[in-house]
Amino acid sequence: MNNKLYDHLIFELSHPGRIGYSLPHNAIPHHALPSDVCRDKPAELPECDEMTVVRHYTNHSGNNFGVDNGFYPLGSCTMKYNPKINEEIASLPSFTHIHPLQPKQTVKGCEEVTTALRHLLSSLTGMYDFTLKPCAGAHGELTGLMIIRAYHESRGDMKRVKVIVPDSAHGTNPASAAVCGLQVVEVKSLADGTVDIDDLRSKLDDTVAAMMMTNPNTLGLFEHNIVEIVKLVHDCGGLMYYDGANLNPLLGICRPGDMGFDVMHINLHKTFSTPHGGGGPGSGPVGVRKGLEPFFPMVNPFHGNFLVEVRALTYILSLGKENIKHVGPLSTLNATYIRHQLKDAYELPIQSLSKHEFVFNGLKDKSTGVTTLDVAKRLLDFGFHAPTIYFPLLFHEAMMIEPTENESKETLDHFIDVMHQIAREAKETPDVVKTAPHNTPISRVDDVLAARHPVLTFKGEN
Ligand SMILES: *Cc1c(COP(=O)(O)O)cnc(C)c1O
Repeated sequence: MNNKLYDHLIFELSHPGRIGYSLPHNAIPHHALPSDVCRDKPAELPECDEMTVVRHYTNHSGNNFGVDNGFYPLGSCTMKYNPKINEEIASLPSFTHIHPLQPKQTVKGCEEVTTALRHLLSSLTGMYDFTLKPCAGAHGELTGLMIIRAYHESRGDMKRVKVIVPDSAHGTNPASAAVCGLQVVEVKSLADGTVDIDDLRSKLDDTVAAMMMTNPNTLGLFEHNIVEIVKLVHDCGGLMYYDGANLNPLLGICRPGDMGFDVMHINLHKTFSTPHGGGGPGSGPVGVRKGLEPFFPMVNPFHGNFLVEVRALTYILSLGKENIKHVGPLSTLNATYIRHQLKDAYELPIQSLSKHEFVFNGLKDKSTGVTTLDVAKRLLDFGFHAPTIYFPLLFHEAMMIEPTENESKETLDHFIDVMHQIAREAKETPDVVKTAPHNTPISRVDDVLAARHPVLTFKGEN
């Protein structure tokens, strides 16, 4: 690969003949393997001593960014604090040393964990029951849509092929509908960021299987017409699907079931605090109203992502009924504080009150050409993870900020100061922002090249 970034990454620690292990003499008789399963030449593994290997990986691990080393305001993804007690409980041998095919009577305690979690999720959401099998939010969406399709088909109603999705929806919503073989129909948002009911009305007929919604939506706005929306969709025979990936703002305060939703999923790894990112681990339980539970999936990847379930149960029980209802208001307070303190420097396209997250449309003063991407990169220089950028798609320079409830005022103030400093730099020394980051191990990468030609081996082959 002919890329400057790649030159910088080459490291060659291997020295022929150096080894980092010692094995006892093999007392087991030698067995020759069939030649067709043997290598032609030895595997080209790096030859290193143990200390070099340990230092190499230890130093690399320090380049990772996570909630344990800095503020991580990634909107919609809900990177909240993961209490260490969760890890302690999830690493108990009685949870880690089980096998999914073990006889049921030997794992009674684990069964109690899943039953208790299902009941707690039902009481937090107003759903009748949950299946814990789906292993991610998107997996939950697909499962939920398949439940909805099975429900319509069970009634002989075969013409329902459409799923209505607001234009502010998370990308997985239309993707899951398409994977499920359903047609996606987009419904517009009004200038205030909520669903345009007239547009919705024009798209409703007896071919609608479901409408998928997030409430508060991805702009952090509570859909105040939710009761009317639910009634319109139900009146035409469709079901309401609630994307509860990020249930933070509602916990213990209001419930999708009470708003009239029929099917929903929750991301345990966002709302109930399992560390996530880079593809997992996740868990996306699906809840349904009474009458839909016969359509729960029968085939399953064993029992779902069990240790994520253990963490979620620990999280819910350690907060308890009294404290869990502070999660929503505190995350809303934190988001509102940042929004208020920064709206002089960043463009706030929607003025109405938002909940746990909100969206800026880039810098207020865009005259020097500094973009949202530049601001996100510059934040890394100050030890902050960037917010979610260029999503939702409603605004060209979207910057979606979600602080979560556990952040202290000092952390928020530091972030606010840095965001102000970046806005000043954008005006006075724009090149500093446009060429950021400057303090990270790797400077600005070519995102497109990295996605198209990922270099995945130490030898630089892709
Ligand atoms: C994260 C998220 C999803 C998808 O969840 P995954 O576990 O990443 O598949 C869906 N909807 C919303 C609103 C989300 O924030």
